[in-house]
Amino acid sequence: MTLSQGRKTVAIPGPSIIPDRVLAAMQRPSPNIYAGELVDIAESLYPDLKAVARTRGHAAIYISNGHGAWEAAVANLLSPGDRVIVINAGFFGTRWGEVMTAMGAEVERIDSGMEGSVDPERLRASLRRNRGPHIKAVFATQTDTASSARNDIAGYRRVLDEEGHDALLAVDCIASLGCEPHEMDGWNVDVMVAASQKGLMTPAGLSFVFFNDRARTARNQVQNVPRYWDWIPRTEPEHFYELFGGTAPTHHLFALREALDMLVHEEGIIHAWERHECLAKSIWAAVDHWSEGSDIGLNITRESSRSHAVTAIKTGGTAASEDTSSSGRDADRIRDWCEREMGVTLGIGLGFSPDRTGSIFRIGHMGHLNPPMVLGTLGSVDAALKALGIPHGKGALEAAAEIIANHDHAH
Ligand SMILES: *Cc1c(COP(=O)(O)O)cnc(C)c1O
Repeated sequence: MTLSQGRKTVAIPGPSIIPDRVLAAMQRPSPNIYAGELVDIAESLYPDLKAVARTRGHAAIYISNGHGAWEAAVANLLSPGDRVIVINAGFFGTRWGEVMTAMGAEVERIDSGMEGSVDPERLRASLRRNRGPHIKAVFATQTDTASSARNDIAGYRRVLDEEGHDALLAVDCIASLGCEPHEMDGWNVDVMVAASQKGLMTPAGLSFVFFNDRARTARNQVQNVPRYWDWIPRTEPEHFYELFGGTAPTHHLFALREALDMLVHEEGIIHAWERHECLAKSIWAAVDHWSEGSDIGLNITRESSRSHAVTAIKTGGTAASEDTSSSGRDADRIRDWCEREMGVTLGIGLGFSPDRTGSIFRIGHMGHLNPPMVLGTLGSVDAALKALGIPHGKGALEAAAEIIANHDHAH
């Protein structure tokens, strides 16, 4: 017998949970794409997207996933032969760097492995080493969704300023926008990319590139920007048909309008950041309790380097053997059990070496999420540890509830 009837819980770090209201907003026939409501809705999205990004700069919307936004940012900034630095704290920076290499850029990587963020001092050292060949841009990921590390974006800008370096700063906020504090203008980020299916609570299929006037000037020096990726025509809502390089993503726009109403006009972006922080801390508290006298632990040990949108959790366990159902990496066993018995889908280990992948699972806590959803996921993992006989410390759920109970005193 399984207990998994009832509403399924998807606790993976993207795509995140789509609010019923957002789903309902899509439940309608195709609209007129030349005039009327859709055109008005599209125009209304820009100020709200910029409010989430905390910028007065420009916003472009693409019909793509996050990988498309990566390519769009690179296509508008770099020409073949340009030199760049890519900051990677896990998995996604490496992949973005591969996009740049494929488009002809020369990439120097600063890598912190899977266990922590990249110290801004490492950027300083790299800039000093590269005095000769000019570095055109520094690319960084705010939250790395695989390691669950969070990089210090303001710190990278500070180092660039202190070194008197004029490199552009471009940031991947695909996992963090709407979840983590991000001040695009306040931190002087020149380019920021995001996507619809994580903190923005909208189905996968839209991505965003925000850029300031400095980045726009850099775009004008690039010789061949592919027509579809060119961000300039996408910033002018008055030319509606140009805005999406063809047919508008009609139902995604209805969905995004509803999601931004919730995030910007109802909850407010600062409160959304605080909610994510509280829920993240409740998860960390639970894991800290599980970890007592066991192999379980948070992948990112330093608290200031932890994402508020996703948490990677280490476990023990032996390599799977075929004859017994009780062997195998514990994270894989926990995930399987939660899926089958509880109806909770947890995130797989991603980007780790093959011998470690099965010992890591991730809880996504981005977007449309409240304490019962988080406590339900934590309670399911707690039950899995007990059912599977995996050693773990006691009191995890109480610790999580304690953090949630005190949320009004945290700020
Ligand atoms: C999810 C994610 C991506 C990739 O986005 P897709 O929509 O899957 O292409 C890139 N970077 C980060 C940090 C992500 O979390």
